[in-house]
Amino acid sequence: MSTTGTTTLPEYAPVPRSAIGPALNEQGYFVGRVERNLYWITDGSYQCAFLTTSDGVVLLDAPPTIGHNIQRAVDEIAVANGVSNKVRYLIYSHHHADHVGASSIFDKNVTRIGHEETRKLLLRDGDAARPPNEETFQDTRTLEIGGERIELAWHGANHSPDNIIIHLPDHDALMLIDIVNPGWAPVFLANLTEDIPGYLEAPAKALSYPWKHFIGGHLGRLGTREDIALHQQYMADIAESSRKALDTVDVTRYFVKYGNNPLPQPRP
Ligand SMILES: [Zn+2]
Repeated sequence: MSTTGTTTLPEYAPVPRSAIGPALNEQGYFVGRVERNLYWITDGSYQCAFLTTSDGVVLLDAPPTIGHNIQRAVDEIAVANGVSNKVRYLIYSHHHADHVGASSIFDKNVTRIGHEETRKLLLRDGDAARPPNEETFQDTRTLEIGGERIELAWHGANHSPDNIIIHLPDHDALMLIDIVNPGWAPVFLANLTEDIPGYLEAPAKALSYPWKHFIGGHLGRLGTREDIALHQQYMADIAESSRKALDTVDVTRYFVKYGNNPLPQPRP
């Protein structure tokens, strides 16, 4: 039998159309307008965004999977609209390499802005691909760049200790990375989250802002407020069933069968 034979593999329900975003171009990316001069880019797996302003382009994250396609997407939009394609500012959502690892592609004159903890963690990591943000803030900071307003806020640890909310009040948009995957369930134990209680609270923080368009950082489409609410329900179901299982499942028979293991003690 051929090792690549698939006939014995089980069938699964197809991925619903609602989970899939727009088609990518030949270079492997899609760039689209979120609202006015705010655009988003995806490679189907990762997402970032940018604003074209009279003071150059403000880039929000720089995932390395999109890499050089970020500038290609910016160029495409800049040419179409007759505006500057020069990336002058780069805002970091958090320090993780998979969302900001293309930072060093951009010129040394770019001003990098992020949370103070992001700077600390990037200094610690010493990764040449992720220059530490020179500009920092503690709890909130409002940026006015080229006449556009960008509100940054740190509400405590969640997916990572430094993950922030980026609210664009004049574009009806909110960016919060690695919490909700619109159209999909979270992966790898709540999206590789370091602080689960913070992760569970983060969607409500996002919903406390006024916005219509959600940039979640992953997969191929933007999100809606309904996507956030569905994610909350999903996580609440998991939390409730986990608590119930902890209280009701008798693990004695597992200990009896599999022998002494001091780790999985039942709760008193
Ligand atoms: Zn992350």
